[in-house]
Amino acid sequence: SVRVRFAPSPTGPLHMGGVRTALFNYLFARKNGGTFILRIEDTDQTRYVKGAEDYIIESLKWCGLEFDEGPVQGGNYGPYRQSERKAQYREYADLLMEKGHAYIAFDTAEELDQARKEAEADGKTFSYDEHSRMSMKNSLSMPKEEVDKLLLENAPHVIRFKMPEQAEVVEDEDMIRGRVSFRTSDLDDKVLFKADGMPTYHLANVVDDHLMEVTHVIRGEEWLPSMPLHVLLYRAFGWDKPIFAHLPLILKPQGKGKLSKRDGDKLGFPVFPLKWTDPETQEVAAGYREDGYFPEAFINMLALLGWNPGTEQELFTKDELVNAFSFDRVNKSGARFDPEKAKWFNHQYLIQKTDEELAGLFGPVLVEKGVVPPPVDHLAKIVALVKERVSFVHELWEQSSFFFVAPDAYDAKVVKKRWKGEIPAFMDKLAVFFKNDNGLWSAAVLKEEVSKLIEENEMNFGGVMNALRLALVGGSFGPDLFTIVEMLGQDEVVTRINKAVS
Ligand code: GLU
Repeated sequence: SVRVRFAPSPTGPLHMGGVRTALFNYLFARKNGGTFILRIEDTDQTRYVKGAEDYIIESLKWCGLEFDEGPVQGGNYGPYRQSERKAQYREYADLLMEKGHAYIAFDTAEELDQARKEAEADGKTFSYDEHSRMSMKNSLSMPKEEVDKLLLENAPHVIRFKMPEQAEVVEDEDMIRGRVSFRTSDLDDKVLFKADGMPTYHLANVVDDHLMEVTHVIRGEEWLPSMPLHVLLYRAFGWDKPIFAHLPLILKPQGKGKLSKRDGDKLGFPVFPLKWTDPETQEVAAGYREDGYFPEAFINMLALLGWNPGTEQELFTKDELVNAFSFDRVNKSGARFDPEKAKWFNHQYLIQKTDEELAGLFGPVLVEKGVVPPPVDHLAKIVALVKERVSFVHELWEQSSFFFVAPDAYDAKVVKKRWKGEIPAFMDKLAVFFKNDNGLWSAAVLKEEVSKLIEENEMNFGGVMNALRLALVGGSFGPDLFTIVEMLGQDEVVTRINKAVS
């Protein structure tokens, strides 16, 4: 059965590209009734960033992408952190040496540098491969006694993969890219095991995918260049190889290139699921959660970066994505990220919620603003009036703050244009009228009554409406005016008009 893994390196916060890789793994696993694994690839000590693993786990939890196996919940193929699997990697490197597919190399950094310089002087680039390997310091070029002696002395050494001597073309099938072929003569003898006693990414990744019985390797396009070596490693071990799928890049909104971790704050949108505080600089980068995105909207948006359902449908629940997803509809070419479209998705999810649900979410925002939230049914009515205009719950405040606090300033332009002539005197009358009104205080009735009053006083209806709006909200915005009058209530309306008149 299908077993897939998301295998991040804890070298920093997970960004959009990483979440999408996790998402596509998740969708493929769920669609096929398979298993979704989290494996932390933390063998590169130099790039390890404190807090990154927790961040990754928190983020995926927020996104609703649950793992079946991983460092938190465990499983039968653990441990799920490569640093805890350290002991086994050397054995597998040794196994490859026994089979004649790897060798020990003693070259120091200086010696490698020297080789590079010499090649450069000849107008070439140095490559550790079948042409150069015999002139370097390794177990293929040196007598066995000398090799054993150096090992006994604990001389620092690495283990390199030995590319096949007979140049050949290797082919493999990628679920997204189709046939991928490469020439072994273009590849060098990559380091599999480092002098510090740790495996490189290539060895650890292939060994663990094998031991964890991973059936499909789904990862970003940046790993496509590693595919040839991985295919050859599986062959050298004599193992069945998983099926590969290399996902298209996520591109910047404009211009050229891949969306990077730095683009977010620079271009004014988040690229991280959650806000990230750099442990060294304490710099904070924006996250989708804090920006007010619903995780469902975020995931929906992300799914359509590189995949399409083949129909016009854009809104998908997670279950619908699971049903609709297939690699046939994942593009080879990069997917351009559109921050406006991301907001559109959030708006769609926002208006799908009931007014009561939104009122519940809006309450804490009000508290933050120092406002005691009104009863839910009243708040729900307010939300209903303005929700069409917002993408995020917190934006409800900008659209509706005048329901909770009287304007403390009036839009100067509107005052100049609207508050003149007979208006102030009439507004005074209007205040008295509202004060004495003992009818139902409903928008429709009030509208009728005020219209009559305007007519009797030979005022201009539009002019009065603009002035009344100015008095109640402080400017020329907001939903239907008589609905505002009704919702504010009699006392508040009278107070606000009086304040504006004075
Ligand atoms: N550790 C690699 C990364 O950080 C995993 C790549 C793979 O999935 O093979 O993306």
